[in-house]
Amino acid sequence: MLDVVQCGHFMSKKRQVIHIHLDAAPKPVPGAPCNGCGLCCLLEPCPLGVILSGRRHGACVAVRWHDDIRQYRCGALSEPVAVLQRVLPARLQRLSPGLSAGLAPLLVGWAQRWIALGQGCDSRLDVNMLTEPLEDAKIP
Ligand code: SF4
Ligand code: SF4
Repeated sequence: MLDVVQCGHFMSKKRQVIHIHLDAAPKPVPGAPCNGCGLCCLLEPCPLGVILSGRRHGACVAVRWHDDIRQYRCGALSEPVAVLQRVLPARLQRLSPGLSAGLAPLLVGWAQRWIALGQGCDSRLDVNMLTEPLEDAKIP
């Protein structure tokens, strides 16, 4: 299910390995319509993703692969209850079982305001798809 992708960031020239679904489409050029390749969210979270993930680096906890359309989607929009169940403290959810469902519309509203939907791919990642697995790549 997972492939290995090697990519370099234009700004920092760092090399970073991320893991992506085999059926994910290649990243389009910046400005082209978003095809749900998922690279931006798998590399690092956006500002909303930083809040949800509690970190600035690595894959966002909210990014979701959808088999039916073979695309990644922002789970804050497509599966807000599941995302909240993942990120809210378990103790809080035990105390208030309907909390995730209750907060879901709020999360969807934030995502709609904060995420640049329908504006084309805004990622300038320089991606090199590997045909051979990296020997030093750690598969989680
Ligand atoms: S914005 Fe670009 S990199 Fe991010 S999922 Fe869409 S096409 Fe892929
Ligand atoms: S768009 Fe959604 S999935 Fe992507 S980084 Fe932001 S919050 Fe996470």
